[in-house]
Amino acid sequence: MSLGRSSRLIGRAPTVRELLAAGDRSFSFEFFPPKTPEGERQLWRAIRELEALRPTFVSVTYGAGGSTRDRTVEIVERITHETTLTPVAHCTAVNHSVRELRHLIGRFAAAGVRNILALRGDPPGDPTGEWVKHPEGVEYAEELVRLIRLSGDFCVGVAAFPYKHPRSPSIESDTEYFVRKCRAGADFAITQMFFRAEDYLRLRDRVAAKGCDTPIIPGVMPVTQYSTIARSEQLSGAPFPAELAERFAKVAHDPAAVRALGIEHAVEMCRALLDEGAPGIHFITFNRSSATREVFQALTPAGVSVGA
Ligand code: FAD
Repeated sequence: MSLGRSSRLIGRAPTVRELLAAGDRSFSFEFFPPKTPEGERQLWRAIRELEALRPTFVSVTYGAGGSTRDRTVEIVERITHETTLTPVAHCTAVNHSVRELRHLIGRFAAAGVRNILALRGDPPGDPTGEWVKHPEGVEYAEELVRLIRLSGDFCVGVAAFPYKHPRSPSIESDTEYFVRKCRAGADFAITQMFFRAEDYLRLRDRVAAKGCDTPIIPGVMPVTQYSTIARSEQLSGAPFPAELAERFAKVAHDPAAVRALGIEHAVEMCRALLDEGAPGIHFITFNRSSATREVFQALTPAGVSVGA
């Protein structure tokens, strides 16, 4: 019996830290708070369909501002009370004082959330614009990690960037500050999306070379539309790999073939990552279940199972 199931029997869901420490391979799905009633229906359809796959956890992103921020709390609360899933709440420092952050962390705790992904966030409006810290807030995710740790018995995750964070002047400084963030109390990390297994492996090697063994879960987004390739630099922080772009360009006229190639590529990459010892896969779903389910199911018969 996996730790996940046995812990539920004694009354509380396990943390991501406990699941990873037990050696379980983690499979998880990321959702975002929708803005419309149709988006809301789509989200809950996806959650229900993916719940059947018994993921290790599901995460809900935190918006840049406005009402979607409250929606994150509402969604994780509903996941806690109405599903069998373990939620991870994303939390960012954007436009929040430390007092407000403490209040938000308290709301997550009251909603039954024990796992929080601590992020600095990007400036609202223009993610590439100048980062301005709230006058009574925090400057870097590292400080948010400490704040969450001091606020209660939380399991804390952080973000990692295979191609370095776009604001980092160098790979070296990116690695150094990532390791500091882990040492501030992070239990696990999830990467930004990437499209070649070796880019994840290089990040993992750089971090390991600094003596840091925080588990880094690869973030994977199957390409299902040709237009995603054009947006991928904005999403991932690096140009889409040229050799892969050529494979997609050959089928660009055929949406079904693009989708099939996207699934095939995601399966190949996930297999390579798991073979190389990645602790699991975090799927970025955009609140849709079908592509993620196809990739997940292609992985499962090959000997990969949740809680293995
Ligand atoms: P930090 O770790 O603070 O790093 C930001 C920059 O500062 C980096 O260049 C870093 O090297 C540098 N740095 C860090 N510490 C120091 C220091 N002590 N001195 C000098 N430089 C330093 N955004 C959202 O708005 N909502 C979400 O829900 C969300 N979810 C995400 C999930 C994942 C898995 C990932 C990978 C990203 C997510 N983001 C989200 C985006 C993220 O908030 C942005 O990429 C943000 O710009 C960086 O956040 P961070 O936590 O990595 O910041």
